[in-house]
Amino acid sequence: VDFDSHMSNTVATTVAAVNVVTPGDAHGRPYQPPTGDALVDDVVAALRHAYRPTAAEIAELATYLDRLRDVFVQRAADGLDGACARCNDLLRSTGAIPELARHDGEAWHLHFHPVAAPWAVGWAGSMATALAVVLGSASHDRLGVCSAPVCDRVYVDTSRNGARRFCSTACQNRVKAAAFRDRRRT
Ligand SMILES: [Zn+2]
Repeated sequence: VDFDSHMSNTVATTVAAVNVVTPGDAHGRPYQPPTGDALVDDVVAALRHAYRPTAAEIAELATYLDRLRDVFVQRAADGLDGACARCNDLLRSTGAIPELARHDGEAWHLHFHPVAAPWAVGWAGSMATALAVVLGSASHDRLGVCSAPVCDRVYVDTSRNGARRFCSTACQNRVKAAAFRDRRRT
């Protein structure tokens, strides 16, 4: 029984949104977030939600996503204490609070922010709560940062054995191919 698929979906959404707004390296190449309408498009796609936010709302969410990313970075550096402290900061500053809601023809479901919270705060509160559920479980090591060269994307490992080290099969294959070339060379 999957008691809360909404929660698992929110963890995946957090990963996708953090990676959209974070400059750095992705899958072997430098990455710069898009700007303007393209940024709104990519964030909307990451959130898998119909509402189209304003540029100001996106900018507000991006400051939270930066802090959410830090939770992954801390956890990946074996800093579970630091990751939990940062997550608690986010829960407090977003005013995250459980509340059952029913709207837009949906069934009763659990929100983690007041239904009337501003858009960015609402999302950030839900995302912080979803990461808090993972950090407070035996599966806290499922949050990670890609260990492939030239990639700093965050990920959640939903595999059965939980041994993932890369953000994607693209990075995994890249590292495997490089190791194969090294073996042939020597
Ligand atoms: Zn990667």
